[in-house]
Amino acid sequence: MAFELRDRDLLGRIGRLKTKGGTVETPAFMPVINPLTQTIPPSRMRKEFHADIVITNSYITKKNFSDVPDLDIHRLLDYDGVVMTDSGAYQILVYGGVEVTQPEIIEYQKKIRSDIAVILDIPTGWDVPREKVEYTVDETLRRAEAAIPLIADSDALWVGPVQGGRHLDLVAKSARSVGAMPFQVHALGSPTEVMERYMFPVLVDMIVAAKRNLPPDRPLHLFGAGHPMMFSLAAALGCDLFDSASYALYAKDGRYLTPHGTLRLEDISYLPCSCPICRKHTAEEIKTATKAEREKLLAEHNLHACMTEIDAVKQAIYEGSLWDLVERRSRGHPAMTSALKRLWMYRGDLEAGSPAFKGHGVFYYDQHSLARPEVTRYERLLASNYGRPEGAEALILVTQPPRRPFNGSEEYRRLYQHLANELGEGIDRLHLCFYAAPYGVVPADLSETYPLSQYEISEPLDLETLRYTAGAVASYVRGSGHRAVYLYRGRGQLDDEVEGALMDACDEAKMNLTTIWSNDPWTGDAFAALTNTLKTRG
Ligand SMILES: [Zn+2]
Repeated sequence: MAFELRDRDLLGRIGRLKTKGGTVETPAFMPVINPLTQTIPPSRMRKEFHADIVITNSYITKKNFSDVPDLDIHRLLDYDGVVMTDSGAYQILVYGGVEVTQPEIIEYQKKIRSDIAVILDIPTGWDVPREKVEYTVDETLRRAEAAIPLIADSDALWVGPVQGGRHLDLVAKSARSVGAMPFQVHALGSPTEVMERYMFPVLVDMIVAAKRNLPPDRPLHLFGAGHPMMFSLAAALGCDLFDSASYALYAKDGRYLTPHGTLRLEDISYLPCSCPICRKHTAEEIKTATKAEREKLLAEHNLHACMTEIDAVKQAIYEGSLWDLVERRSRGHPAMTSALKRLWMYRGDLEAGSPAFKGHGVFYYDQHSLARPEVTRYERLLASNYGRPEGAEALILVTQPPRRPFNGSEEYRRLYQHLANELGEGIDRLHLCFYAAPYGVVPADLSETYPLSQYEISEPLDLETLRYTAGAVASYVRGSGHRAVYLYRGRGQLDDEVEGALMDACDEAKMNLTTIWSNDPWTGDAFAALTNTLKTRG
């Protein structure tokens, strides 16, 4: 197997991709190298920027260096890491065609000893009629099929591209078909324009449509992804490789990349970055440098920004905090927040990829955190794996104690002691649960398990979180099979919201609902009110 997985979080993973030119750790960002002109010499890329893999264009190389005998792409670029070559498909997209056939460009990539190479696919592009999209998908598949015998003797890794653009059914079909062929790497085509237009929610849809239909053990390359702001999002959805010339193109245009968005050089007075360029220079020095020098400094900073963000993504996968990083980065631009919101639709996919236990607590910030894998997993497991204790006919829903774990808190211990004293063995007929945001019902006997005792939540709760929590409580109660429900509530907003949802749910399920309301549920008077009600109701 060329691809070995080490760590995972959400659909993101740290992997090792073995190529004949060396092993690359993923997620990896590949700087695009123009074989004719370079803002940063590739010979500096490994040592100074930790770029162990780069990508260049075999079509441009062939057009300009066809007279060089026995050309080795590593030697031409003066780069000793892993070299991926693209086939000229991008030129088809931009110029409408290329002066090369697929067998020629496949043969050429083998000849120049590319480590990872791409067939000559037909990019879908943007704003094209569906018939045209169908053509690009079918023609790309036809070419992929035709490429198989041509690459059978090759020791490079070959990329089977996925097309389809924003037509998700076609992306799915393309991924399913090419995933069944013997390629070692896959790539999602055509996202460049989606990214340039900041249509990040569409990008989320496209990546998931591809990912769901590709073999999970092959790396996925996102063509043309070069903004550090979106690396964590794309990695969270399972993209392993990124490539872009943006570090150099943005520099030409006076733009400064950060993981939070793009700044224009003329607007910068202070350099908010700790890369060697930004520590060695002031903003003023970069602004007043010659055009060529300015471009070079900006390109170097931009590449540092990309490479540093990849490390941040890897560290987040390693420590299981990728969701937190995605949430932080989503604040870089409203379109990124839209993408974060879109993840709600795919929370099942994200949960399935995430490890069940993490060595640290969960931070819950606001409604966006509802799509966290821990919340999804708890909702799923409570519904499918948790049954009420035998003989427990009445459900007591207790407002959350001030400390976690809830059942270990001094307040709850006093309540429990009071119930035991007053009810004697009758306590066995009670199913004691808490209700708390964002999880909904937290059975006392589960409240010490992960992540129910290890989370921090920001307060006051927002409306969406209140509604989700109340909905989760109601949904549990509806399916719980209890004879009667007692709501032991305080006077907070969540208590109101839960009571409202329970009234509807109990009505619907023909269950008896009794509410015991108090200003401070942790006093002896409040405890007595609860036991009196329980005794009266039998
Ligand atoms: Zn910098």
